[in-house]
Amino acid sequence: MPAAITGEIMAAAQADGTGVGAFNLIGIEHAEAIVAGAEAAGLPVVLQISENCVKYHGALEPVALAALAIARSAAVPVAVHLDHATSVELVRVAAGIGISSVMFDASALEYAANLAATAEVAAWCHQRGVWVEAELGEIGGKDGVHAAGARTRPRDAVAYVRATGVDALAVAVGSSHAMLTRDAVIDFDLIGRIRAEVPAAVPLVLHGSSGIPDAALGKAILAGMTKINIATQLNKVFTAAVRERLAADERLGDPRRSRCSSREPVSAAERPARAARGRRSAHRAAGGRGARRLGGDGTARL
Ligand SMILES: [Zn+2]
Repeated sequence: MPAAITGEIMAAAQADGTGVGAFNLIGIEHAEAIVAGAEAAGLPVVLQISENCVKYHGALEPVALAALAIARSAAVPVAVHLDHATSVELVRVAAGIGISSVMFDASALEYAANLAATAEVAAWCHQRGVWVEAELGEIGGKDGVHAAGARTRPRDAVAYVRATGVDALAVAVGSSHAMLTRDAVIDFDLIGRIRAEVPAAVPLVLHGSSGIPDAALGKAILAGMTKINIATQLNKVFTAAVRERLAADERLGDPRRSRCSSREPVSAAERPARAARGRRSAHRAAGGRGARRLGGDGTARL
């Protein structure tokens, strides 16, 4: 089947009240492992290629075409997404090779310049059916939505979405990029307030989710997040598996023997992203915002 469309996966998740895992790949093994995990879970997934990943490979096309081919052969809907693109040219390349969504990151610009650049990219992408995610930048905190301590104000989120016309918004609610520990403290009340203000059709995106405990990921979805971005956690388990395999056999020369052994833990690490299938639906059925009990013990299960 063709690669899935990110906007359609997100719209379905919005309708169901579920979250969608969006995982960054670096090499083809990551993409294979992420899709294997999604197939095992029976859930759609988004394969993300960051601008930094593109720099590592020297170009978008080789890695993107591989990801699209893996997406096409998957047994579950798999979309490919360009993550944290600061280059408008890279967005154009992505659209040209069939990537259905981009995160345009103008957060390093002054707010007015961020608005103008993001609105222009969104308009260009929408003419080509490409779904656009963006972030507020300085209003969400000096280093964008990823700085520890940064928080998005609900009224700023609404103004930004209206001014730019973006399809999804990355918000600052307590997570930060590249966390190696999973102890980020998420402001669930703020997620709820942003969700209540931002138009319902616009999914909220949680970056830096590697630093968030599993139970909190479920609660974040319950509170209103939809797209859950995870990168660092997969790199951690992938590297750990390779390191363990190489340490176990010093004579190992064939990289397939060490890299193959790292696919399984990467797939396993994806389990947190099953986060809350049907959880918000169950939550609504249980009585709405006040009813936070998700299971017999009242905890979010992953
Ligand atoms: Zn990010």
